[in-house]
Amino acid sequence: MRVALVSEHASPLAVVGAVDAGGQNVHVDALAAALVQQGHDVTVHTRRDDPDQPARVDTDAGYAVLHVPAGPAGPLPKDDLWPHMPAFADGLTAQLAALAPDVVHGHFWMSAWAADRAADALDLPRLVTFHALGTVKRRHQGPADTSPPERVGVELAVARAADRVVATCSDEVRELRRMGVPAERTTVVPCGVDATRFTPVEDGTPVPPRTRRHRLVTVGRPVPRKGFAVVVEALATLPDTELLVVGGATGDPERDRLQELAARVRVADRLHFPGQVPRAAMPALLRSADAVVCAPWYEPFGLVPLEAMACGVPVVSAAVGGMLDSVGDGVTGLLVPPQDPVALAAALRRLLAAPELGARLGAAGRARVLERYTWPRVAAATADAYAAALERRPRAAAQPLRRA
Ligand code: UDP
Repeated sequence: MRVALVSEHASPLAVVGAVDAGGQNVHVDALAAALVQQGHDVTVHTRRDDPDQPARVDTDAGYAVLHVPAGPAGPLPKDDLWPHMPAFADGLTAQLAALAPDVVHGHFWMSAWAADRAADALDLPRLVTFHALGTVKRRHQGPADTSPPERVGVELAVARAADRVVATCSDEVRELRRMGVPAERTTVVPCGVDATRFTPVEDGTPVPPRTRRHRLVTVGRPVPRKGFAVVVEALATLPDTELLVVGGATGDPERDRLQELAARVRVADRLHFPGQVPRAAMPALLRSADAVVCAPWYEPFGLVPLEAMACGVPVVSAAVGGMLDSVGDGVTGLLVPPQDPVALAAALRRLLAAPELGARLGAAGRARVLERYTWPRVAAATADAYAAALERRPRAAAQPLRRA
C-alpha cells in the first residue's frame, strides 16, 4: 500500500523530550519504518519548522518526510498552529495529489482535520489516531488547557468522517464512545516499542552513577500533567532512594517548580535531572532503575511504560489511560491511584524492599511486550485497519499521477 502519514507538529525527525516533542514523534517514526519493512511505501507530511529544511528528506528507515509550508518556517507551540492549518491542508492536498496514496492517516486532531480536507478533495480513504483527546485534556486541565476552543468539535467531526478511528487503548475507546463516535468504526491498535533496542541486556552505554542504594527513573516532557511532582512528594518518604527525572532542559518552568518542591520536602539532594536523553541512550537509563515510575494525571497511551517493560524493568504507574491495558497490576508492575503520593510511595516501598518481586515483574513485562507490543505486530494491525478503510471506501481512480 501507498501510505501517507500526516503529523503536523510532531516530526519524526525531531529530537524528543522537549515540551512539544514526545511520544507522537517516536510513534510516527517507528510506525513509518515498520510499515516500510512490511513492504509499504510511506511518506510522512509534517509542518516546515526550520527555513533550512529541504522539502523532502529520505530517511535511512526507508520512508520520506515531506515538509509542508504553513505559517512561519520556525518553531511554534502546537497550540498556536490551528490558524495555519488551512495553509497546511492546501500544501498537503498538493503533495497528496502528486503521490496518490491509497490511504491517508492523520495523527493528532489538527493533522486529521487537514488530512480530511485533502482526502475530501482527492476522494481518499482516511484514518485518524488522536494520540490525545481534547475532551480528556479539558477535563483534567480545566482553565490551564491552552488548546484552541475548536479542538473538541473538530475531533468529533473528523472522527465521524474517518473510515476508521485507530484508538491506542480501551480507555480511549470508552472516551470516543462518550463523545458519540460510532464504536463499529473504531479499532484498537496499541503503540509499539522497539524490542530489539529496548532489551534487558546491557549495551555499555554510560549512565549517571548511582548516589543512593535505590534508583527510580521517570521520563517525559516537562509539563505538569506528567505528574513528576507526585513522584517528588513520594520520594520524601523513601529512604536511601534517588530519582532521575528525564526530559526537558534547564530553565523549563516545570523543572524550576519541581526543584522548589524538592527543596520544600527536603529531597533536593536526591533529585537529578539528566535532561533530554537521546533515543539511543534511553534503554540503558531505564535499565539502571530499580523501578520506572509513571505518575501522570492522565495518559492517552504512554510509551515509557512499554519501553521500561521491554527492558525488563518493573513499572509503578498511575492507573490511567493506556497503562490500564499495558501495565498488568501485580503482573508487570504495580498500579496506583493517580495524584496520590502516599499510595505511590507505598507501592514503591513494597517493590524496593523485595528485589525478587521486581525481577519477576520485570521479566513478565518483557514477555508481555514480545507478545503484544512489537512494531512488526503493531504495523501489521495498522495495515489491517488501512485495508478495512479501503474496503469501506474503494478508490475510484487509484492510478498514481506522478511521484513527488
Ligand atoms: N523521550 C526521549 N528522551 C527524553 C524524553 C523522552 O527519548 O529525554 C521519549 C521517551 O522514551 C518516549 C517518548 O519520548 O519514547 C515519550 O512518550 P510518552 O508516550 O511516554 O509521552 P508523550 O510525550 O507522548 O506524552
